[in-house]
Amino acid sequence: MSSTESQTFAAAAFDGRIAELAENLAGLNKRIGAACHAVGRDPASVRLLPVTKFFPASDVAILHRLGCRDFGESREQEATAKVAELGELEDVRWHMIGRLQRNKARVVSRWAYAVHSVDSERLAMALDTAARSALDAGERTDPVRVLVQVSLDKDPGRGGVAPEELAALADRVAGSEGLRLAGLMAIAPLDDDPAAAFGRLATVRARLLLDHPDARELSAGMSGDLESAIEHGSSCVRVGTALMGARPITSA
Ligand SMILES: *Cc1c(COP(=O)(O)O)cnc(C)c1O
Repeated sequence: MSSTESQTFAAAAFDGRIAELAENLAGLNKRIGAACHAVGRDPASVRLLPVTKFFPASDVAILHRLGCRDFGESREQEATAKVAELGELEDVRWHMIGRLQRNKARVVSRWAYAVHSVDSERLAMALDTAARSALDAGERTDPVRVLVQVSLDKDPGRGGVAPEELAALADRVAGSEGLRLAGLMAIAPLDDDPAAAFGRLATVRARLLLDHPDARELSAGMSGDLESAIEHGSSCVRVGTALMGARPITSA
């Protein structure tokens, strides 16, 4: 191919990707609308969080053009690189949704609007220290919004604090100057009915709201189970596959 031909080819591929993402976005907004309608909720009370892990910065730029402003990433190195590449995009809010090592807290505190995966006091403390440094250094203007991840199964490998330990961790986050307790996050267990798990989550959340009435965010539901999560009060569905297509590696 000549360079003009390859430019034309690249432009056509880009247009195709725009059309594909626009169509998937419309389909998801329909699903979210129908799920809200089914249980009498206002569709505006549920946010779609596109999960862009494993997909290039150009896809984030397309979604931004299509009106998306919030993006979820789950791997620190990939996210940090993407954030740097997209520094020019306006009004973007990056959400760290994956497991976070304490030694990555400082890096993440430079770009994360919210962290959905805080599940231990040690991590909360590291993130608080990091966020206060970032605030002092002028690298951010607001505390990091924290969603405490709750475990809905007994599998420590998937992250999340046990429901019995949630109250102490939530108090700790709420008392941290660099953090703001925004709500809860959960991932449905692999081997259980998501509706049952999200039902337990709704109970845990109701209890948390008695002590922390402002912690209203509930990040729950993904491509396969967002309807059930919305039925049980989700305010944020984290969608990868149904929006972006299949990931090259699906286990992360
Ligand atoms: C990848 C990921 C998602 C998106 O999952 P899909 O099934 O592809 O929609 C949601 N939440 C977390 C924590 C993830 O890592």
